[in-house]
Amino acid sequence: MANILVYALHYEGAINKNSLGAVSEGAKLAAELGGEAHAILVGENVPEDLAASLGRYGASKVLVAEGPEGLAQPVVDAMGKAISDGGYSYALFGGGLLGFEIGAGLAARLSAGVAMEVTGVRAEGGKLIAERPILGDSAISEINFRSEVGIVIGRLNAFEIKESGSGAAPVEQVSFELSAHSTQAKMVTRGEQRGADVDIEGADILVAGGRGLGKPEGFQMCEELAGAFGGNAAVAATRAVVDAGWYPYAAQIGQTGKTVSLKLYLAAGISGAIQHKVGMQSSENIVAINKDANAPIFEFSDLGIVGDLNKILPKLTEAVKAKKG
Ligand SMILES: Cc1cc2nc3c(=O)[nH]c(=O)nc-3n(C[C@H](O)[C@H](O)[C@H](O)COP(=O)(O)OP(=O)(O)OC[C@H]3O[C@@H](n4cnc5c(N)ncnc54)[C@H](O)[C@@H]3O)c2cc1C
Repeated sequence: MANILVYALHYEGAINKNSLGAVSEGAKLAAELGGEAHAILVGENVPEDLAASLGRYGASKVLVAEGPEGLAQPVVDAMGKAISDGGYSYALFGGGLLGFEIGAGLAARLSAGVAMEVTGVRAEGGKLIAERPILGDSAISEINFRSEVGIVIGRLNAFEIKESGSGAAPVEQVSFELSAHSTQAKMVTRGEQRGADVDIEGADILVAGGRGLGKPEGFQMCEELAGAFGGNAAVAATRAVVDAGWYPYAAQIGQTGKTVSLKLYLAAGISGAIQHKVGMQSSENIVAINKDANAPIFEFSDLGIVGDLNKILPKLTEAVKAKKG
């Protein structure tokens, strides 16, 4: 019998969506293993009903550890102790940078194997096997754990949210000691970084900008075009421009950003690096504007426009406005 401990991130009184997916997935896998899925929340004054609500997603017990919220190392301390005390066989995380950081720390703490960017998990012969895309998502590798504890970290949105439990789960307060180094980082502010209209998950059309925009103000052209499309159109970005501070991280598409599959992905001044491609390649229509006819993005675009985006984007905006009347 193998039990699974799932980390549930919470913020402003709500459980993170990826964590709800991870709890749902954990419950399904634990049933296949003949064990149980428990969830753990770390935070200050975590409301009991919030913790108990994870029962709806299949957690049969929820551990609550009093400690600083939103920082990786305290969670490593809390989960490390809970896993050793509780004899869990697996730790499961939804996607997101905090999960990566905690999972990596936990792997070091417990000498455990870790599989990151996982898109699927199955139980076989009483053990979990994680599936992880490799070689730019062109192949899937299967990961078995030889270590006593296996750590599985999903890719963003990899695990579907499913209500399966009967209602509130029992909540148990657990205590743990903070390591000396875990008190070195302090949370200064916490918030979600969003641009004016960044609602990528709900979009049908994305106008994505890259370094070819030349400067942060270049994004105005993308915003104007998205505005002309109206409705469910939004603006996205490459990591190069997000790292340069030109646009918020929430808009980043790709391996370390969001994965989208929409009706229209319009890429302006984007070279088409593999790490960007994996986040948008399954979109129905890909249109690229690039001044370099040999840019890799043209290899996977349905329509390619070779030219200067400074001239093409405003004309496209006018044309869309005219068409819409
Ligand atoms: C581990 C790792 C993870 C990564 N994760 C991501 C990720 O999640 N998402 C991501 O996007 N990247 C990611 N990257 C970075 C990725 O490798 C590329 O560096 C990045 O995508 C390039 O961004 P870009 O296309 O904006 O810039 P560039 O590669 O510099 O391309 C700019 C393009 O603009 C064109 N251009 C220039 N001027 C004009 C003009 N006036 N008109 C038209 N075209 C013009 C150029 O011809 C060029 O093709 C990751 C890298 C690593 C190593």
